[in-house]
Amino acid sequence: MTSIDHYTEKLTPLTRDELVDRLKEALDTPRFKHVLRVEQTALDLAQANDVDLEKASIAGLCHDYAKQRSDKDFIKEIDRDGLDPDLKNWGNPIWHGLVGAEMVKHELGVWDEDILNAIRHHTTGAATMSKLEQVIYMADYIEPARAFPGVDLARELTKKSLALGVAYQTKSTLQYLLDHGSPIYPATILTYNAWVPKYEGEING
Ligand code: GDP
Ligand code: FE
Ligand code: FE
Repeated sequence: MTSIDHYTEKLTPLTRDELVDRLKEALDTPRFKHVLRVEQTALDLAQANDVDLEKASIAGLCHDYAKQRSDKDFIKEIDRDGLDPDLKNWGNPIWHGLVGAEMVKHELGVWDEDILNAIRHHTTGAATMSKLEQVIYMADYIEPARAFPGVDLARELTKKSLALGVAYQTKSTLQYLLDHGSPIYPATILTYNAWVPKYEGEING
């Protein structure tokens, strides 16, 4: 198990302990515990994939920072930052990453674009994702408390190759959304096109 206690890279003005406290204030207990598990899973994936551990820790902790903010807060943030007005047609599942990253930047002082993109893209993925973005996308999906059908295969594929994990999650999530008649955020389709056909032969168990 990889661990990190002290930040040295000045990626946030906060110490790790202070950052953890801010997450604890922002989230209810189950969600707070989820972000700690995502941080740990992200650290292990980062170690295995030669990704900066401090960035993995910060992105893992902060990925759901905005999850429990009000719709009104998100609308205000979309206006304040001049984000795509189409975002207003969506809701919390899409906002908490894409818009939440701006709150992380303004409220927690995290400025690193790779970390912010990892937060932005943790729900829908993106056609192009850095290694850190892939680590956070997968850590959120396979953290130890996740128990949906297919999660063991997702863990196995991710251990073999981060990219295979990304392809598997992307296909499974789209399949799930289609089965439930949910609206598909356009970026989700772009992620699908960029990742799934390429790895299709290798993600079927
Ligand atoms: P969590 O924040 O740790 O619960 O996990 P995520 O941020 O990955 O996902 C939040 C929710 O968004 C999940 O229920 C996903 O199934 C859902 N989601 C992912 N992509 C899309 C999409 O394209 N459209 C919609 N409507 N929901 C999506
Ligand atoms: Fe999330
Ligand atoms: Fe999450």
